Amino acid sequence: MPRRSYEPQRTCLGCAGRGAKAAMIRIAAQEGKVVADPEGRALGRGGYLHRDVECVRKFAASKAKELRSLKIRLDRPERLRISEEIGRLLDRAAKDAYNNIDGPKTHQNSRQ
Ligand SMILES: [Zn+2]
Repeated sequence: MPRRSYEPQRTCLGCAGRGAKAAMIRIAAQEGKVVADPEGRALGRGGYLHRDVECVRKFAASKAKELRSLKIRLDRPERLRISEEIGRLLDRAAKDAYNNIDGPKTHQNSRQ
């Protein structure tokens, strides 16, 4: 385990809270578009969201026309599109994690 105090911290574009970079999902600005970058390797300016559906929802619901950290304009349909894409990634990640659990279920999944 890396030591917590040395983990790079990033600010969430959804809740504006801080989190460990490794625990967040990256989005990147590429050629005027925003793309999900789950592996954190895309070129371009990046932003981060907690791997949390609530944060993605907050991000989707934001009225801001611009992502300042990415220096990119993000209109409503584009914001919803990227939020959906991240939502699907989270869903898949959750399922992967779930499939890797071999112990008893300790997590209550309240997703509808
Ligand atoms: Zn957040």
